[in-house]
Amino acid sequence: MSLAAENVRFAYNGRPVLGDVSLALTPGRVTAILGINGAGKTTLLRCLGGLVRPGRGCVRLGGRDLREFSRREAARAIAYVPQSQQAERLTVFEAVLLGRRPHMGLRPGRRDLARVEAVLGALHLADLAFRRLDELSGGESQKTAIARALAQEPDALLLDEPTASLDLKNTLEVFDIVRAAVTANGVAAAAVLHDLSQAMRFADDFVLLAAGRIKARVDRAGLTPEIVREVYGVEVALGEVGGHPVAAPLRVADAA
Ligand code: ADP
Repeated sequence: MSLAAENVRFAYNGRPVLGDVSLALTPGRVTAILGINGAGKTTLLRCLGGLVRPGRGCVRLGGRDLREFSRREAARAIAYVPQSQQAERLTVFEAVLLGRRPHMGLRPGRRDLARVEAVLGALHLADLAFRRLDELSGGESQKTAIARALAQEPDALLLDEPTASLDLKNTLEVFDIVRAAVTANGVAAAAVLHDLSQAMRFADDFVLLAAGRIKARVDRAGLTPEIVREVYGVEVALGEVGGHPVAAPLRVADAA
């Protein structure tokens, strides 16, 4: 199901952060949201996830305004994984089971438990299932939050810097499992990413945000050194190593 922002404006205490942003996340594709610190990426993700209401414009899931969704409907349809997780006294198992809550009755059914088990297995979290969240490393808790989102089987998946605390192996595992879910279930996914090589490897579409506005929306071929320089103020070389796209930052660009 497509998730779309239409002419979204957002301000914190009267200070505009997003100005007239329109974009649509396509089912079965991953959109990378790129841009420098403070560009408005997290705010855009929070608007798309229904965590904050745009001052103007609207967000639509499958063509329907999010404001018409009940809390439970929205919680079932959209999964949002924030940058950092709160260390709660839940176990990993309980935290991932929370992803099933909008789907289940008072108690989890067989399908809920099977889904939780499958996700814990796929992300190699089974050994940590009964550890408490406040006893996990940053990477382990990030993986747990992603596991919870995948257990939810959402229509739209929003990830804010999903690999920031992950080592190389966990990064690739998370990308693979997210990609598998996106492809198998036609999930419309977006991820805020800082590493351009990772973004090019993981994402299909790229939205470049600058000062709360969309500078460019391109596919992989359209992500050029010129656009990167314009948005990040950095000269990069884009190439390929071992069949994978790589972005090498060269130097800070001269001011235009
Ligand atoms: P990005 O994710 O691209 O780094 P953010 O969306 O987090 O950008 O922030 C965009 C702007 O909004 C920044 O200038 C930031 O300081 C400001 N901002 C973010 N969150 C809040 C908040 N809760 N209250 C006030 N200003 C905020």
